[in-house]
Amino acid sequence: MLIREIETKHILTHSKLPGLGYSINPYVGCQHACVYCYARFMKRFTNHDEPWGQFVDIKTNSAEVFDKDILKVKSGEGAFIASVTDAYQPIEGQYKLTRSLLERIADLPPDLLYNEFAVSILTKSDLVLRDLDILKRLKKISVGFSISMMNETASRFFEPRCSPIRQRLAALKTLHDNGIRTYAFISPVLPGITDLPAIFAALEGIVEYVCGETLNMRCGNLTDVLHALSLFNKNLRPVFEQNIRSRSYWKSVEREFYELAQKHAIPVNNFFHHID
Ligand code: SF4
Repeated sequence: MLIREIETKHILTHSKLPGLGYSINPYVGCQHACVYCYARFMKRFTNHDEPWGQFVDIKTNSAEVFDKDILKVKSGEGAFIASVTDAYQPIEGQYKLTRSLLERIADLPPDLLYNEFAVSILTKSDLVLRDLDILKRLKKISVGFSISMMNETASRFFEPRCSPIRQRLAALKTLHDNGIRTYAFISPVLPGITDLPAIFAALEGIVEYVCGETLNMRCGNLTDVLHALSLFNKNLRPVFEQNIRSRSYWKSVEREFYELAQKHAIPVNNFFHHID
């Protein structure tokens, strides 16, 4: 694993996410090493040729840069943490960059502009619970966990260094019980692997809303996904290959998604398609 300390010019970068306006990525790369990760396109922009999951650049000056960047924020904007990395990957336990940034946000002057500054965290690590004390101080906060599958064995092949699924669900419950707005991002939905009924049943009562997403294959991840699938259970490969690009399959998945959401009384925020 290549680990490097770097300096960044900006930590609030423009994003098109509705209601947020900015992304915060304290790291480049991600130790979680999910085989389906779309963020691997970042290798092109950051001069990395190591395999995805085998490098992390640590933006050590993130908190200081935040103090400058926050001055450009306008009313109604907020930040998504994180769009191309996981801000709670294992190295965060040591560097605490995400924690420092959340402290900065919690300590913003109490005026209308900053009271409205929304923060949405999306992670696959229960390390986020370490920062519960600060999360509770934030005025507009939501914390989500990505969940693609319920099978823990499959998870080790597809997302080898993320928190086990039972720990993600337990973390969602803890956050929810502590008054934090929670959500689940059911992503990516993988044919033959993603068990939507089991996921929705597990989420009932612990999330305020869900989003869903098909596999984004525009970043060259399909070979790694198929490899992980073969290692987990090669018998699933035909069903996966038959459906992964099928519009009718994805229509039926989306229908099932909304039906399950209704059954479990969990509002759907969005279902993203990446099929051409
Ligand atoms: S946790 Fe997110 S950013 Fe990290 S490798 Fe997995 S999908 Fe990519």
